[in-house]
Amino acid sequence: MKRVSLFGATGSIGENTVDLLMRAEPNTYDVVAVTGGGNVARLAEQARELNAEIAVTAFDECYDGLKDALAGTGIEVASGAQALCDAADRPCDWTMSAIVGAAGLYPGFAALRQGGTLALANKESLVCAGPLLLAEAKANAATIMPVDSEHSAVFQALVGEDMSAVERIIITASGGPFRDWPLEAIAKATLKEAVAHPNWAMGQRISVDSASMFNKALELIETHEFFGIAPDRIEAVVHPESLVHALVGFQDGALMAHIGPPDMRHAIGYALHWPERAHIPVNRLDLAAIGQLNFSAPDTQKFPALRLARDVMETGGRAGAVFNGAKEAALDLFIAGKVGFLDMARLVETALETCDAADSLSKPLIGLDCVTQADHMARKAVKDAAQDRA
Ligand code: NDP
Repeated sequence: MKRVSLFGATGSIGENTVDLLMRAEPNTYDVVAVTGGGNVARLAEQARELNAEIAVTAFDECYDGLKDALAGTGIEVASGAQALCDAADRPCDWTMSAIVGAAGLYPGFAALRQGGTLALANKESLVCAGPLLLAEAKANAATIMPVDSEHSAVFQALVGEDMSAVERIIITASGGPFRDWPLEAIAKATLKEAVAHPNWAMGQRISVDSASMFNKALELIETHEFFGIAPDRIEAVVHPESLVHALVGFQDGALMAHIGPPDMRHAIGYALHWPERAHIPVNRLDLAAIGQLNFSAPDTQKFPALRLARDVMETGGRAGAVFNGAKEAALDLFIAGKVGFLDMARLVETALETCDAADSLSKPLIGLDCVTQADHMARKAVKDAAQDRA
């Protein structure tokens, strides 16, 4: 049996992964750990359904609730950030990394030390610590499988290809709910409007990031880190239908596109079964019914996150960790109703400048402590900048 663990099991990616595991033949998977945050009732339910060895909540205040919900089952219970890493230290063949935000970084590293496969939905890990993460995988003969739909698509388009023949990588963006809104309207956008994604059902944070295109910005950096391709050979193109997920351009002029329905179970299933392809219960596309596909260049004035991502890729070093930490802090402020929608990008830009002035961002990342330090510095810079504006 394949030993699997799910970090962030109660989230959108986590639930899609649970769906695939529940459909498998009996005795296919031996579930080691399931983890969540505050949704203890669902975590306990998942632990029972999957007969997990251990259920971990990230939050100590949720421990008692989880313990009570699993009383009499024999399933171990734990809480806190260290418990997440301890759970990732258990022998495992395949780990889903689907915690949202920088909180997914340490458990992902711990899982890599098992030498199995890390299915990486947590793009923040690559953005904050790409070179360290890839080095850790190499040192442990572990495999990282991209789960972001765009990166899974690129991975699939590259099977059997030589990276030296790749000219460019194009990732698509739906454009989110504000794609056709004027700048003045976007400035007044509410949280409710921002989470109303036209094509994908996702967690709240990534939905807002899609609306601001910070999600696409993170994905540009993720592409650069994971595939080792120069920033000027990575493009983002707006594709409202979200059916073409990415394209790889080769030196002979060919463009290999990956097309599929907007259903994350495809990318998760591909990472779960790789190098084989298994039956995945996603809708099959009827191209004649779809009729046409549209593409356009993104508007970097309306979505400055894309411009900032290019600066971050060029700078390298700690810029990714600062960018992500600042983005998370600015997102917290927007969700709390303390800043406007467009203020998020302004605050992130200010944080990048402030942190760079304090200590050049291009200095290389030495270790995970360095990532944490950069993350904290960025969050403080956003807090200070927001206070100055208030
Ligand atoms: P959700 O918000 O739906 O789920 C996040 C998961 O992380 C939940 O299990 C949540 O627990 C848990 N969690 C929240 N805070 C913490 C914390 N501090 N420590 C540990 N666990 C925590 O997110 P998504 O599933 O949408 O996204 C997860 C990751 O996958 C993100 O990195 C996202 O960018 C990426 N991704 C998502 C896609 C999607 O379609 N949703 C597509 C591609 C990538 P609880 O809910 O119990 O509080």
